[in-house]
Amino acid sequence: MKQPKQTRMCVRCRKRFQQKELLRLQSNGYSLCAFSGRGRSFYVCEECLAQPKTFQIIIKMNKLKVSEELIATIKEIWNLWQKK
Ligand SMILES: [Zn+2]
Repeated sequence: MKQPKQTRMCVRCRKRFQQKELLRLQSNGYSLCAFSGRGRSFYVCEECLAQPKTFQIIIKMNKLKVSEELIATIKEIWNLWQKK
């Protein structure tokens, strides 16, 4: 039997994807950033990223305060990921 490929779960829809199909983020306690290689991280799929509500869930999940800075950071991360 073939070994199933390693998949990661989207934090919102809980579907499983290949790691490269997901955006990996982490919280530093007050904002979000792309995964730095250390600490806890989570994955979001493309479909969920397109839905504004997903970020509300992420913000809640990480107990972050919504600020203009945080929203700007999210947009930045999203733009970077889109360019890949
Ligand atoms: Zn998803």
